[in-house]
Amino acid sequence: MKSQTRVVVIGGGIAGCSTLYHLTQEGWGDVVLVERNELTSGTTWHSAAQVTNFGMNQTMVGLKSHSIRLYKELAADSEYPINYHHGDGGIRLANTERVMEGYRHFASQAKGMGVDFEIIDAAECARRHPLITTDNLLGGLWDPLDGDIDPAQLCQALVRRARKAGAEVYRNTPVTGLTQHKDDSWTVHTAHGDIRCQIVVNACGYRVNEVGAMMGVHHPVASMEHQYFLTEPIAELEARETRVPLLRCPIDDFYSRQEKKGLLVGFYEQGCKTWGMDGIDPDFVNALCPNDVDRVMPVLENVFKRMPALEKVGIHTIVNGPITYSIDGAPLVGPIPGKRNAFCIIGLRAGLGEGGGHGWLLAQQIVHGEACYDTWVIDPRRFTGHANVELTALKAIEDYQNEFRFHFPHEHRPAGRPIKTTPLTPILAAEGAEFGVVNGWERLAYIKPSPEFHETHSFRFTEAFDVVASEVKAVQAGVGLTEVNGFNRIEVTGDGARDWLDTMFCGRIPRKAGKVGLGYLLNHHGNVKGEATLANLDEGTIWYGSAAASEFHDMDWLSAHLPRDGSVKLRSLTNDWTILVLAGPKSRDVLSVAARGDWSAEAFPWLSVRRAFVGIAPAVVMSVSYSGELAYEIHVPNAQLYAAYLALRKAGEAHGLRLFGSYAVESMRLEKGYRHWKADLVTEFTPFESGLARFVDLSKPAFVGKAALERMQAAGARRAFATMVLECTHAPAHPGDSITHEGRVIGTVTSAGWGHRVGKNIAMGFVEPDFAAVGSRVQVEVIGEPVAAQVVPGCLYDAENSQLRGANNAGSVPIAGPTDGRTLETTR
Ligand SMILES: Cc1cc2nc3c(=O)[nH]c(=O)nc-3n(C[C@H](O)[C@H](O)[C@H](O)COP(=O)(O)OP(=O)(O)OC[C@H]3O[C@@H](n4cnc5c(N)ncnc54)[C@H](O)[C@@H]3O)c2cc1C
Repeated sequence: MKSQTRVVVIGGGIAGCSTLYHLTQEGWGDVVLVERNELTSGTTWHSAAQVTNFGMNQTMVGLKSHSIRLYKELAADSEYPINYHHGDGGIRLANTERVMEGYRHFASQAKGMGVDFEIIDAAECARRHPLITTDNLLGGLWDPLDGDIDPAQLCQALVRRARKAGAEVYRNTPVTGLTQHKDDSWTVHTAHGDIRCQIVVNACGYRVNEVGAMMGVHHPVASMEHQYFLTEPIAELEARETRVPLLRCPIDDFYSRQEKKGLLVGFYEQGCKTWGMDGIDPDFVNALCPNDVDRVMPVLENVFKRMPALEKVGIHTIVNGPITYSIDGAPLVGPIPGKRNAFCIIGLRAGLGEGGGHGWLLAQQIVHGEACYDTWVIDPRRFTGHANVELTALKAIEDYQNEFRFHFPHEHRPAGRPIKTTPLTPILAAEGAEFGVVNGWERLAYIKPSPEFHETHSFRFTEAFDVVASEVKAVQAGVGLTEVNGFNRIEVTGDGARDWLDTMFCGRIPRKAGKVGLGYLLNHHGNVKGEATLANLDEGTIWYGSAAASEFHDMDWLSAHLPRDGSVKLRSLTNDWTILVLAGPKSRDVLSVAARGDWSAEAFPWLSVRRAFVGIAPAVVMSVSYSGELAYEIHVPNAQLYAAYLALRKAGEAHGLRLFGSYAVESMRLEKGYRHWKADLVTEFTPFESGLARFVDLSKPAFVGKAALERMQAAGARRAFATMVLECTHAPAHPGDSITHEGRVIGTVTSAGWGHRVGKNIAMGFVEPDFAAVGSRVQVEVIGEPVAAQVVPGCLYDAENSQLRGANNAGSVPIAGPTDGRTLETTR
């Protein structure tokens, strides 16, 4: 056994084997995999091993496509061919128009990744899968490349190729401990000796937290018991020459695929069970949980109704094994938060289908710092401090129960809520608040017009349309108040703070005390990594503010780049402070009553910051705006938040102050052309391609990513950011929708929604540079149907910024009626 290597991958299931193989493909041959027992002896050996192409976002579709390409290549390798049925096809069933609309959206999204799904009706579903009935069936999504693979052969094939490229594999070698050294390298302690390495990868399946504990980390991954049955041969299948396609059924919570001349049928029962919550028997190896037929009986009854042929055949094998889930159903593939040189590929619940792609993206991250796709949807840092064992278990159960039921736009499911609140949460709830969840925080979405108000989540405009219109109008005409909790806030102090931050941002940063600026961080490839507001609070104290979800992500990035001499210090204030946003032309009047001081445009112009008291609550006030109206961000310690809220409500009474929520903010920021991190700002594009040239200063001597950015700029733009107005009123576009020209995909939507002040259906996205000019005619697929659209200027509302500067309260922008420009076609 080697005593020194570059990377040690711990775990020899599909996750570890794929990572090892892809590390060698990225050029790192000096890598090792250690496995406590035999390869695939965790979950992988007993997997149903279906391989599908369907995904909720383009990254997932892309990585699954990689799996399929790779598995096909392995299957065709004459030296070591493996069993892979690809091309059986698969159908995702639906019995409501709402779900069919979702499939149309996902099909459009996949098209942008070169994947063609088909939407078919119930009769066609039955034609393609002759065992199913069409009762209570509307149709489905056809995925032509669905299939299944032999899991053990797949892992052996990957390891075989990795070994050829220099990798070594040590079986029956349990990892017993991990020690990190001052230079961030690791010693991996095993039952057969130590291995010193630069980087460790946790790929330990359901034992993820045993190895996590060795580095002092708890990963938000829980295991569920999951069961499938294999049937005796079925006469109808024996009579066929071709295989039947896969089925995934969100109506009755089961899946199936052909296995020899019978079926494999798996269940996602409502009465599901977590597994291994209080520790796992060390001898649970190549093992299964006891059969538990009763648990799945309610599902089985419905399976019989869908496939009556099953009633006549016996079950010859039952498999009940542990399967891992995270909080949102997607795995954790990437850097381990708070650690250096440590990565994970864990929480895989569809690891056979996805594993090829996840290993590919992880190896790229390890070797190059970033993958070819933005990997935020699988980034371990998307879950922060609230992601504890109990929350993970609750969300795992909820996700398991809804396995094939995708989330609709704005849908936040109830399990594990509320987990993060502020003192205002119950106050806002009493005011009629509807909440969404942002990084665990209950964030005000809108105020319900009546206690009975209910929004039917859909890909169309919903009942919330008029509610949002009215909140936007209140902000535009007068003044509104909202809470933005969980905003990521890092205090940066020290003699070198300003100069160091200057090297982190690609543009100019505010140098004078009392000034605020917006800036962008690039990765080492010159692409956009982060967006932050820098507030120069006092001499020596700068506040770094960014999206709530970026809490761990940004802290890791900044910490990794800190000067080693200790001249700069970072302190997170994220969970201790909350923002109250006061917005609208009368916001200055309200602030002037609530807070002592001169708040005039001259004394406190746009992009200023100062400490103040709002009522009796200490606060940091910034004149910045995400709505495009005159606005103030009032940062208050949570202990005084209610006091500040009361002071603002009281001062606002005379001006008709209204509460507004994140839906209204979204509408207004789209009109202003403001970007949203990890929607419009992704690691796949440079700031130039992202339309942020004004935030780049190439004359600065040095900043992270500068050399790469210059190279990328010289190579020419791959995509350009564009704002479009859609000529339809029934639905907004959604992130991932394809933008086309004469039937060819030329771009992808990143954000979209109705602009209530301008009365327009707005979409933003990346397009081929030739189509980015204002006036270009394109089509945007809305619920799968092409809709005419025109590229327009990036800022549709108050392009001169006269409103947000608030000079003389110039009310120069006309107020549009809430439904101007569209006839109401909501889901009511
Ligand atoms: C019943 C069932 C059906 C499924 N069907 C499908 C399907 O149809 N399609 C699909 O895509 N997915 C399916 N899955 C999920 C899929 O099987 C898993 O996502 C996948 O196998 C997980 O692989 P892994 O490598 O992450 O974990 P594992 O296969 O569990 O591998 C982890 C490895 O780490 C090793 N290890 C643990 N601790 C240590 C240590 N201290 N030192 C060294 N090694 C260690 C273990 O021994 C193990 O070999 C199914 C799962 C179940 C249970």
